[in-house]
Parts: sequence; structure tokens; C-alpha cells
Amino acid sequence: MIYDLIIIGAGPAGLSASLTASYLKLKHIVIEANLGGGALIQGYPWKKVDSFLGFWNKTGQEMSDIMMDHVQREGSEIREKEPVEKIEKNEKSKTFMIHTTKKEYETKSILIATGIAGTPRKLGINGEDHKRVHYSIKNPALYEGHKVLVVGGGDTAVEAAFALSNAKADVSIVHRKDVFRCTEKNTACINKTDAIILFNTELTEIKAGAENIESVTLLDNIKSKTKNDKFDDIFIFAGSVISIDYLKDLDIKMEGNKVVVDNQMKTSIDGIYAAGDITGKLMRIPEAIGEGHLAVYSIFKYLRNPYWA
Ligand SMILES: Cc1cc2nc3c(=O)[nH]c(=O)nc-3n(C[C@H](O)[C@H](O)[C@H](O)COP(=O)(O)OP(=O)(O)OC[C@H]3O[C@@H](n4cnc5c(N)ncnc54)[C@H](O)[C@@H]3O)c2cc1C
Repeated sequence: MIYDLIIIGAGPAGLSASLTASYLKLKHIVIEANLGGGALIQGYPWKKVDSFLGFWNKTGQEMSDIMMDHVQREGSEIREKEPVEKIEKNEKSKTFMIHTTKKEYETKSILIATGIAGTPRKLGINGEDHKRVHYSIKNPALYEGHKVLVVGGGDTAVEAAFALSNAKADVSIVHRKDVFRCTEKNTACINKTDAIILFNTELTEIKAGAENIESVTLLDNIKSKTKNDKFDDIFIFAGSVISIDYLKDLDIKMEGNKVVVDNQMKTSIDGIYAAGDITGKLMRIPEAIGEGHLAVYSIFKYLRNPYWA
């Protein structure tokens, strides 16, 4: 069986693309390394998302459930827990072979929608793999009454600190720079809480026993002074390491970890398109959904050469 289109990644970009492909009757599947929903379910299932028209007061988990339900009702087939490991181009047949951890698929076109979530970046310090050291939050309410340390200064860290504070945890947030790198809205939110904010401060060591964290070392990087403190839980949000190894056999144009696309979402390789965070434009849900939709119209034109193109 040769597919018209295989979409890699089932976040907002991939799901939007799949909905469009169902509408345009393209024979397609979506292959997802983890669970359908992408960053919404893997990164912030608890968070209220306020950027997407028509989804008022919905959490990442709820939005993900609604999107998955919608696309599956329209006929999408989403293969979860099946990371793509390699893509090969067959110059003769002008098709592609996609190799996953489970099997191989042949397709006439590909949409890359794998986002930039990757795996959490570690700090490279002692104790960072302890079970009370976390790299995401599933449910802030679980930490009510806990003394917690949040490490990081971007939106993810600040939103996490805000959510934990609202869940009545005793929150400290440390950031190695002198100002947060987050939206004004998030800065205003965190400033309204009781969270202790320590700028120019780095977590340099975690001493942990079998069950609990015994102490942490915090470095004031201006005064070069350290102090020790004790926390029940630590949350580290130091960015992510993106794995794009599966693209390495393709001579596809990249800028850093981003796939370069034109204004129709076409990459440097005929038949391969990209959408969502992996293209490095505005990394937000509405943009990902719009790019996924546009990309599939471009793919349709590439495959079918319709009268209206
Ligand atoms: C903490 C946090 C909070 C955010 N809050 C907001 C917000 O409030 N509003 C907003 O608009 N945006 C928000 N964003 C950004 C938003 O989540 C992203 O812009 C959006 O999810 C991008 O969609 P995507 O489909 O491109 O990528 P993703 O949602 O990251 O989905 C990519 C999918 O591809 C899969 N994948 C990766 N590699 C492979 C592989 N080799 N094989 C198969 N599958 C693979 C991943 O498992 C993932 O499911 C937030 C992001 C974070 C991290």
C-alpha cells in the first residue's frame, strides 16, 4: 500500500493537517512517537490555554481530547507510541520509505510536524535524576503544602511556578539571569503570588537520599556565594533537546534545529512539507493549526494538480 501522505507528529499541526487531509480525501495516516495531542498533553495537560479562539478556559488535556475526538470522527488514523526513526527517498519511484520502531511505510508525500518539545534538557548536576526532581507537571494539586523549587526563567518555568503557587505549594523560583524571559502576562501573574523569586541564582547540586531530597546548593552568580536549602520537590525547566536524527539521511535544508519552508510550507525536498513549531515561526497553537492546514492544501496541489490550483 502506498499512502498519499504520512504526517509525522500528532500535535496541533499534525492533527490539523490530518483533518484537512480527511476533508480532501487523501489516503493518509499520522504517526506519533508518544500520545496524540502533542505538547498540550505531554507538556501542560493542567494549564488553561488562553490563545485559541473558541476554546475558553480549557486545559491542555481538554483541548487535546477535543482535537483528537474531532479528527478521529472525521476518519484520521493515529498510530501512537511509534517514533519515526528514518526516512529514505526513492528517486526512481518518487516515493518515500518511513521507518518507525514498528514497521515501514511507503508514501508519496510527507508532512513533518514533530514540534520542538524533544526531551527535557538536564543541568548536568548531581541528583538531577532523583524521583523528586521533575521535568513536567501532570497535576499541580499533587504538590499542595510541599516546599518546591522551580528552576528556569522562561514561560514554562514561570507558568509552572504560578500553577504550583495557586495549588498552595510553598514556591521558590530561581533564574540564572536578572530578568525572566517570559510574557508580560506571566510576569504579572508570578509577581502577584507569594513565590520567592531569586534572580542571578543557579541550582548547582542536589543531595538526595533514597526517598527525599536532603539539601540543594544555590549559587548567587553575581556574588559567587552559595547557600544550602531544603525542598520536597524540584522542577527543572531548562529547555529541551530536540531529536531530529530521523531526518539525517535526507539532504533537507535546516536552520539549526528548524526545517526551512517556503510560504506554502514546502521544504527543500519535493514531496516533503513541514508545519508547526518545527518550522520555527510563531510557536503557538493557532499558528501550528494554520500551518498544518495550509501544508495539506499545498500537498494536495502537488499530488493532484487540481483545476483550481
Ligand atoms: C509549557 C508550554 C506551554 C504552552 N502554552 C501555550 C499556550 O498557552 N498557547 C499557545 O498557543 N501555545 C502554547 N505553547 C506552544 C504550543 O504548545 C506549541 O506551539 C504547539 O503545541 C506546536 O504544535 P506542533 O504540532 O508543531 O508540535 P507539538 O505539539 O510539539 O507536537 C509534536 C508531536 O510530534 C511528536 N514527535 C516528535 N518526534 C517524533 C518522531 N520522531 N516520530 C513521531 N512523532 C514525533 C511529538 O511526540 C509530539 O506529539 C506552549 C508550549 C509549552 C511547552
